[in-house]
Amino acid sequence: MNRCQWCGRVPSGFGMVVLTIKEDEPSQSLCRDCYNEFAANMLGIEDYKDFEKEATFIDCDGIEHRFQIGKMINPTGICWEAVEFIGENKIGYSFEVHQDFEEDSNDALERLYKKIKKGLSKKFIRKEVVQGQELISIKENVVEGRIEWDDRYDDRTPKFIIDGQEYSLEEFGRILMSCEGWNFRLEIIEPTE
Ligand SMILES: [Zn+2]
Repeated sequence: MNRCQWCGRVPSGFGMVVLTIKEDEPSQSLCRDCYNEFAANMLGIEDYKDFEKEATFIDCDGIEHRFQIGKMINPTGICWEAVEFIGENKIGYSFEVHQDFEEDSNDALERLYKKIKKGLSKKFIRKEVVQGQELISIKENVVEGRIEWDDRYDDRTPKFIIDGQEYSLEEFGRILMSCEGWNFRLEIIEPTE
């Protein structure tokens, strides 16, 4: 397991940040806390640390989801993230909001919490068992989710995280076959939107 080169700790689920301070010096592998402290000093802003690092929410089916809450201080603002780590290299639900430096971190966190609640308040995929067979279909003709790289394939094959669950391209294609012959509209949305 990689340790942070500054504090020696093994990082949380969010992993490491690779930092290059000077071009001719080797880059360093840092935990998020050390990176954020460095970035805050450099940008002359406060490194707000007084927030819950973990939060549990319940979705519309009564299922619990535990999120790790973290942030990344970027030159353009702060990115707050709530990520549901569900196994090695596996992420279920994931939510992000952007905070401008002028905004209060607590307000940004409130927006993040609201976004989580909204995200968990409805599901897009319906699973039912009909005569012993599992049928998976789209609930109301709209699907929202996240596009990720499917590392089971060498090339650029996506997978889709919908309702916090993974669907391969093939599985998602099969779901779409319940709408064979229909038209569709695809819209790509930034994670902080
Ligand atoms: Zn560290």
